[in-house]
Amino acid sequence: MSGGTNADWFDRARRVIPGGVNSPVRAFGSVGGTPYFIASADGPYVTDVEGRRRIDLVQSYGAIIAGHAHPAIVEAVAQAARAGTSYGAPTEREVLLAETIVEAIAGVDQVRLVSSGTEATMTAIRLARGFTGRERLVKFAGNYHGHSDSLLAEAGSSVAQLAADPAAVPGSAGVPAGAVEATVVVPYNVVPTLDETVAAVIVEPIAANMGLVAPAEGFLDGLAAECARVGALLIFDEVITGFRAARGGASALTGVTPDLVTLGKVIGGGLPVGAFGGRAEVMERLAPLGPVYQAGTLSGNPLATAAGLAALDLLDDAAYARLGRTTQRLTDGLSKAFAESGAPLVASTVGNLVGIFAGAQPPHDFAEAKTTDEAVYARFFHAMLDGGVALAPGAYEVAFCGLAHTDAVVDEVIEVARVAAEVTVRA
Ligand code: PMP
Repeated sequence: MSGGTNADWFDRARRVIPGGVNSPVRAFGSVGGTPYFIASADGPYVTDVEGRRRIDLVQSYGAIIAGHAHPAIVEAVAQAARAGTSYGAPTEREVLLAETIVEAIAGVDQVRLVSSGTEATMTAIRLARGFTGRERLVKFAGNYHGHSDSLLAEAGSSVAQLAADPAAVPGSAGVPAGAVEATVVVPYNVVPTLDETVAAVIVEPIAANMGLVAPAEGFLDGLAAECARVGALLIFDEVITGFRAARGGASALTGVTPDLVTLGKVIGGGLPVGAFGGRAEVMERLAPLGPVYQAGTLSGNPLATAAGLAALDLLDDAAYARLGRTTQRLTDGLSKAFAESGAPLVASTVGNLVGIFAGAQPPHDFAEAKTTDEAVYARFFHAMLDGGVALAPGAYEVAFCGLAHTDAVVDEVIEVARVAAEVTVRA
């Protein structure tokens, strides 16, 4: 289409973009090889610049749920663009998107729209600190909450693959020790004992950045009770799970309502949107009403809110029922393929996410997650890619289905996985 191979484009990219990518995991660092450069995408497929079409289980790391280039979303964006792309003044669609979120997510009276998940978590923490007048922040090892300084401590996702000293806290060069001084990292799935110095506990209610880790029975309830006991705010980071695990997110699925929720991905329909929300008493501490500052030139962007509203409009009960069935079908099929081939891989699902772990059993925490055999994952990843299925190029990510993944598409993935599992064993 645009000419040139993936390798050509990667060479060009590396000259002008560090590592050739604008987000580290895309560089194929942990699986090896050359990343594919996408020319277009439609429904469950992505097509690279060489014209190779594959079934996509990356789905923009969860931002896409209705399928790529869904006509309703494309039309909504096109229509919005014709009316101007950014104003720096309030618009109707911001109100509509906020109303949609407030209606869907328990415990959210008010919501502030931002432009990424990183901004959402960063500001939720500032708000929790401003509200409580306390500084300490508790996070869980292997949970990723974006790349703001105070959250880059034992973060999962591609931070886990950073070549730096794995024992180092902070988890990235350039983060001053002072920025993570007030961040306490504790193991996932264990309720920590808190005290009155803790402003907030932030958690992925279904962990999806150390592979897929389900919350243990009683973990989230216990966390809510412990936060309530000491007056700390509980923040559910639902950037991945919001409007995916269920319309009401993981909090609806688990029945635990946090004090603050952060959102992103699905609510932007593939455009840059993040959000955080909670009860009015807390949210009204934000500027312009309160002393906690937050702002954004492109916040509530007209194209992004149009895409988000169009996406959320497609997500009715039937859509979630279908997504649940599709995800289960994929997980069952992968499990069978792994078992029959004897490949040292396991598949699991929770909250409409799929985990592929290179080990005997799905992990329960970061220590277990880190035992994943990255070489096995890499072999499986490349065999899948050769067979026409795109997984995330990293063992700490999860796989996503969407509404465009029909049973026939899922069955094709399973067929490819059967062969890929055998190739993985033989290699
Ligand atoms: N929180 C979670 C749970 C995430 O998975 C991510 C990104 N994958 C983020 C926050 C950060 O979102 P963004 O990449 O949009 O900044």
